[in-house]
Parts: sequence; structure tokens; C-alpha cells
Amino acid sequence: MSTIKRLPDALINQIAAGEVVQRPSSVLKELLENSIDAEATEIQVHIKDAGKTLIQVKDNGKGMNPIDAKLCFERHATSKISQLEDLFQIKTMGFRGEALASIASVSKVSLFTQPENQEIGTHIDIENGKFVLNQPEYFGKGTLIQVKNLFYNVPARRKFLKTNPVEYKHLLNEFIHIAIANPDKTFQLYSNDNLQFHLVPKSLKNRILDIFSQWNDEHLLLVDEETPNLSVKGYVGSPDTASSTRGEQYIFVNQRFIKSNFLNHAVFKCYEGLLAKGEFPFFVIFIQIHPNEIDINIHPTKTEIKFENESFIYSILHAAVRKALAKFHVEDMEVDAFQNIINQQKKYLEGDITIKQYKEKKQEKSSEDFDLQKSLNILYQPISAKNHDFPLLFNEDNFSQNWSAFQVYQQFIITNFQGKLWIFHQQNAHLRILFEKYLPIIQQGLHTQQILYPERITFSQPDFLLFQQNKDIFNQLGFDFYFDNEGLLIKGVPIELKIHNLSSFIRHILDSLKFLDNYLPNFHEELVKTVIQPICIAKTQRLTEKEVKSMVEELFSCENRFYDPFGNPILTELKPEEIAKWF
Ligand code: ADP
Ligand code: MG
Repeated sequence: MSTIKRLPDALINQIAAGEVVQRPSSVLKELLENSIDAEATEIQVHIKDAGKTLIQVKDNGKGMNPIDAKLCFERHATSKISQLEDLFQIKTMGFRGEALASIASVSKVSLFTQPENQEIGTHIDIENGKFVLNQPEYFGKGTLIQVKNLFYNVPARRKFLKTNPVEYKHLLNEFIHIAIANPDKTFQLYSNDNLQFHLVPKSLKNRILDIFSQWNDEHLLLVDEETPNLSVKGYVGSPDTASSTRGEQYIFVNQRFIKSNFLNHAVFKCYEGLLAKGEFPFFVIFIQIHPNEIDINIHPTKTEIKFENESFIYSILHAAVRKALAKFHVEDMEVDAFQNIINQQKKYLEGDITIKQYKEKKQEKSSEDFDLQKSLNILYQPISAKNHDFPLLFNEDNFSQNWSAFQVYQQFIITNFQGKLWIFHQQNAHLRILFEKYLPIIQQGLHTQQILYPERITFSQPDFLLFQQNKDIFNQLGFDFYFDNEGLLIKGVPIELKIHNLSSFIRHILDSLKFLDNYLPNFHEELVKTVIQPICIAKTQRLTEKEVKSMVEELFSCENRFYDPFGNPILTELKPEEIAKWF
């Protein structure tokens, strides 16, 4: 007798639902996207108990006829794609036809819907994935979907929902993403019958200001660039919008909110020198790109995206934001300088001009660039200076919960993290942090950022040969380069590494490659050890309060916090018994 049984359909649906429906906010996202796809202009959301009791979305979109109203709960039923080619041309938010089927398998759903030209609509109730009611009913134009008691039939998942404030925060994020991306539509959000937002159609800028009422007109700097392949539009915050929490960064690709550390990095980089370390600016950026150039079919929740040409997008985004930051504060001439950079870069990336022409341009422009950087630095001096506040001293109350940390002799850090008293060596700690951070990402290969003007590196003949023998390693480290008859030119550098001096960095790697054999089983670890040395902090170096604190947090989340990758001790606990002995 066979022991293999086919799972009941209801169970299959619940399992698949896990991918789409993780928490109330995933339901809200799917429902809102459906309303947008249905071309609604007014969308009203009701939430009860942070979505655990009710998530309801009502729209005035095109509605569904009785047949579609029933069909929409079938897995892989979608009106949005019908053939494989469509997958590469996705213009709607949804396309998998999975959401409603999944939602209905883990909650009690009611649907009211009616298309514009019909006299009567449809009312459907579903429980446990089964239709318990399906009848004609007048509704008026549009669709209303109620999702009640999410996960009532999957207790294990219901148990894992977070507290109401946490779940509500997630719901709010989804609502905000959709509301920012659709400033021409009306949105209302009610939580437990209290109106939280009533957003009426406005310009993007005013929509942003309606949602983020802490900012005003002057905080938002316009970004507006168009190239033949893509456009970058939106607003970046002036440096005083920065805060230490990430999460106020909104990037949309083809109207879809996405999470991308890679693209965030392109924007953060523009603020270098303008913000204290650990501060992140506010921004809302829309990237519009031909659907052929991206692949959104990577993750069921569709917040991740893959680009055909990442470094191109990175450099255009970077240049566009730099220009926006400059335009607000600096003279026209310097704005033009940025415009030139963008134009040159576009041509370069599209292969219209040769490297030589590009380099000549560089020489003309470099003095302007320098002046611009200088004026920006002067402009924002008060902001970068403010991180020299003094840390709090220990006190009894906050000893275990609110921990403190401070630097002594510009070399060591003392902290009461996790209720114990520790002293550690800042440089050794940093080596450990960097090592654990880069070990996995170097293995995968670092990303490359094209630099505006290729940099020539000169070597002795044997070093040049060594470089050529090891060029795969330099590729893996994110370097992009080519050779001409005079030697080596670097045209791209790793995004993830902050390299201060390119030629000494490359020489340092080459020096250690002389003693490293890439057949060694621990070659990769040795390579990472080599890479982190030049980017690590100095043995004696003044750190800001923020840097000290984030170092403590990072060190304590390392797998090994006691020894650095070279085997040197990092930290010692100052135990009360030991301290007592001193007296
Ligand atoms: P997808 O959005 O991927 O197509 P869904 O399960 O979210 O899959 O929805 C299935 C179908 O139900 C959609 O393709 C659409 O035809 C229809 N539908 C869902 N919500 C609405 C709505 N608010 N208004 C009109 N039609 C809707
Ligand atoms: Mg959908």
C-alpha cells in the first residue's frame, strides 16, 4: 500500500499562502494593488485590531462580473497575463493570480463587486476556501473586499503575529507605499473606526508633505532626470531630514515599491560628508525603466527586483541625486557641471564616446568638481560637526537596559552592553566586524561602481604580471579594469568597500597575493583578511559617539567576538569579583 497521499487542495493552498500572506500588511498590499490595477480613483481602507480582526478595502474601480467574481479566488486565475511573453512586459502590480486564492485559504473573505455597466452586482462569502454564499446583490460601481480573522484556521501562524503596534506599523508602510506611488488618487485609512489619513489628489510633492507632515516645502529637493533608457524622478530630503533610522527611504521602480540596498547606496553616497555617520536621509525616488530591463518575478511579494544593467542605473541615480543636492544650494555654474557629468556618463555608458574623449572632459571639469565639493562641505559644516556630543555616563537605572559605551585613550571602548562591563580594543574589534561582514559577500563577488574617470595604476613589471595572473580575483573583488600599452587602468571599483587610496589598496592586495596560494583551502578567508586591513580603523583614532555605539552593537552580533581574524584578543569582561579585589 502506498504511504504517499496527495495533500488536500485546501492544505496546498494554505502552504502556498505562506509565501504571499505573511501578515496583515501582506493582505493589505495585495488588495490595494488590485484596486490600483482595477483603475480605481478612490480607495478606502478599514483596519481593525491591526488587521487581525479585519482588513477591508473598498474601491470605485472596474469591478467584476459574476463569473469573474467567482473565478478570482481560483489559484492562478488572473486577468492580467495570459501568455508567457506577457511575463516580460508586466505593467500591472499583480500578475500571478495567487493573492485572492491564498488570502481566502487563511481567512474568512467577503466580496462585493459590480462593474459599471451592470444593474446588479455579486456578493460572495468564503470560509476555509469554500464558497458559503454566492448571490446577486446591488453594490454600486467598484469592489469591496473584507478579510476577517486572518489565520483563524492556521493557529501556528496566528501565534506568530506581532503585537498590534508592530503589525499596524507594517500596514501603515504598505498604505504609504501605495499612496505615494498614486498621488492622483484619493485614499482614506481608518483604524478601529478612527480616520488616520484622508489624502486627496495632489502633486507628488504635496502628497509627500501630506503623509510626512514633519517636513515642509524646503526640505524636499527635486530630482528629475531623463535618459533614453530610464528616468529618475522624485524628491530627496535636504540634509536636515536625516535620522538614524533607516526606513524613510522610498524607491519605486515602475510605480512598485522595492527594497534595494544597492540603489539606496547610490543615494546615500551623495550625502557623504553632509551627514554624520549612521544618519540616513529621507527620499522618495521613482525610477521608470522599460519592463524588459527588469525582472520582478523573483520574489512572490515582489519587493525585490533584478536589473539587466545595474551599474548603469547606479551611476545615473547617483548623478541625478548629486545634481539635485547641488542645485538647491549652489550656483548655476556648478549645476551645469553636474549636468555635464550626467551627459558624459550617459554617452560613455552607451558607448558613444571614447575613453580618451571622456578623460579630456575630465581635465576640464575636475576643478569645478572640486569647488562644488568644497562649497557643499562649507554649507553643511554644522551638520557634520554635531556628532561630537559626549556620551552618557553609566548610571544604575540604565545599567542593563539602556546601555552606554564610550571611547578611552582613543583606542579602547568601555561598555555595559547586555548588563556586563566590557572593555575592548577598537581596531581588533573592527577587524572582526569587517571580517564577518565581508566573508559572505566577497565570496559572492562584490558589485562594481563605474568611476567617472579611469585611474591609471603603475607597477613594476613583475607586479604587473602578478596582477594579470590574478585578474579573476580582482574581478571578484568588484574591480573593473582594462590594459593598454602603458599598463593598467581601473574603471570600476567595489561599491561595498570604502577605499581611500586606490593604488595603495591594489598594491596591498598584490603584496599579499605573493604569499597566498589560491589552491589553499582557506584562500578565501585569507583574501578577506587582506581586504579588510586597509579599510579598518586606525589603532588610535577618535570615534564619534554614534560610531562607538554601532561598533558595540556590531561586535556583539558577531559570531566570534573574542578574537580578531588574526587571532588577537578583542575584549575582556570586567567581572565584579575582579573589580572587588582591587579594593
Ligand atoms: P492578480 O492580481 O495577480 O491577477 P489576484 O488574486 O490578486 O491576482 O486577483 C485575481 C483577479 O481578480 C485579478 O486578475 C482581477 O481580474 C480580479 N480582481 C481582484 N481584485 C479586484 C478589484 N479590486 N477590482 C476588480 N477586479 C479585481
Ligand atoms: Mg493582485
